[in-house]
Amino acid sequence: MEFFYRALRKKHHVLMDTNGKPLGGRWNFDGENRNALPDKVSIPQPLVFSEDVSEIIDRIERHKIKYLGNISHSCLIWPTTRQASRHLLNHFLKVCLPQFGQYQDAMTERGWSLFHSRLSFSLNSKMLHPMEVIRAVESYWQANQETISLAQAEGFIRQILGWREYVRALYWAHMPNYQHLNTLSAERALPKFFWDGDTKMSCVAHAVQQSLDYAYAHHIQRLMITGNFALLAGLDPDEVDRWYLGIYVDAIEWVELPNTRGMSQFADGGIIASKPYAASGNYIQKMGRYCKTCHYDVKQRTGEGSCPFNSLYWDFIDRHQSLFESNPRMAFPLKHWKALSDDDKAPIRNTAKHYLDNLDKL
Ligand SMILES: Cc1cc2nc3c(=O)[nH]c(=O)nc-3n(C[C@H](O)[C@H](O)[C@H](O)COP(=O)(O)OP(=O)(O)OC[C@H]3O[C@@H](n4cnc5c(N)ncnc54)[C@H](O)[C@@H]3O)c2cc1C
Ligand code: SF4
Repeated sequence: MEFFYRALRKKHHVLMDTNGKPLGGRWNFDGENRNALPDKVSIPQPLVFSEDVSEIIDRIERHKIKYLGNISHSCLIWPTTRQASRHLLNHFLKVCLPQFGQYQDAMTERGWSLFHSRLSFSLNSKMLHPMEVIRAVESYWQANQETISLAQAEGFIRQILGWREYVRALYWAHMPNYQHLNTLSAERALPKFFWDGDTKMSCVAHAVQQSLDYAYAHHIQRLMITGNFALLAGLDPDEVDRWYLGIYVDAIEWVELPNTRGMSQFADGGIIASKPYAASGNYIQKMGRYCKTCHYDVKQRTGEGSCPFNSLYWDFIDRHQSLFESNPRMAFPLKHWKALSDDDKAPIRNTAKHYLDNLDKL
C-alpha cells in the first residue's frame, strides 16, 4: 500500500513540493497517528441530518419485514444529497481535521465518530468525488497551517488516496476468486451477540451496539474489535462478510470485501496485509477505556474471568504456527509462544477452548 500510495501522490501531485518531493520531507506520518484519546480532550458532536423516513419505517413494520439494527429513529442521519455531503465535508474540515490524524486509531465510549469524517457513504454512493475531498483537505490545510499540522492532513489523505484506492485496485484485480478465499480454514458460526450486542465483553458490546444504532463504526472498531475477535475466534469469513455488508451504511462490496476478508480476516493469505491484524486485550486497553468497565480482566491471560482476547490470541498463534513460520512479521509472537513451557501453554489452550466452545455466552 505504501508504494502504491507514493506513486499516486506523485501522479496526482498531492502534498508534493515543486521538486517532486513529499511535503514535510516524509511520505507518511503514521507514527504520529496512533495516540489514545486523553480524558481531557473533548470530542465534537457529529453533524447529523434529518431526512424523514417514517413512511418507509411504517411499511417495514406493516409488512413485518425482518431487519438488522435500530430503526426506531424516524429520521435518517446520513446525507442523501450532494449538498448535504458537501456540508458534512465542510464540517469535517473545520471541526474534525485539526485533530483527525493524531486520534485516528483511538477508541472511546464518549462518542461514536470521534474526529472521523463519516464521508465514506457520500464517497461510495458517488455524491462526492474522492479527488474533490482530497483537494479540499489539501487546500484547507494549506490555508490553516498555524492550527493544523501536516500530520493531520496527510493522515486523512492517505486513507482515501492510499487505502481506498488500494483496496479498489485489489478487488478488481482478484475477483471473482477473492470472495471464496479462506486461507485459515475458519469455519465457526457468528455468535449471537453480533446481532444484538449482548455480550459481557464491553469493547465488543460497544462496537456492535453502536453499529446497530448508527450503521457506523470507525476503522479501528471494525478492524481491531469486531474484526479482531472474528479472526481470533476463527469465524467463517462468508458469515463475517455478510455481517459487514449488512450492517454498515457505507458497505458496498468492492470496498467491504477486501477490507473484511483480506485486511481483517487474513483469509486471502496476505494479498492485502503483510500480517494478520491480530491483537490481545493489551492493544484494546491501550487504545481505549473499555477494559475499565468490563466483566473480564484484561490483565488475566487464563481461567475464569480472563479477557477472551488474551487466550484466543495465543491460541490463534498456536493454531496457525506452520503458516506464520515463513512470515518475518510474525516472528516476534511466534518466538514468544515457542518460549513458553508446556505447563504454561496448557491453561492458555484450555481457556481458549472453553471460550470457543461457549462463544454465545461470552
Ligand atoms: C472489516 C472492515 C470492513 C470495512 N468495510 C468498509 C465498507 O464496507 N465500506 C467502506 O467505505 N469502508 C470500509 N472499511 C474501511 C473503513 O473502516 C471505513 O471506510 C471508515 O471507517 C469509514 O468511516 P469514515 O468515513 O468516518 O472514515 P475516516 O476515518 O474519516 O477516513 C476517511 C475516508 O478514508 C477512506 N478509508 C479509510 N480507510 C479505508 C479502508 N481501509 N478502505 C477503504 N477506504 C478507506 C474512506 O472512504 C473514509 O471515508 C472497512 C474496514 C474494515 C476493517
Ligand atoms: S477486558 Fe478484554 S473483552 Fe473486556 S473490554 Fe478489555 S479487551 Fe475487551
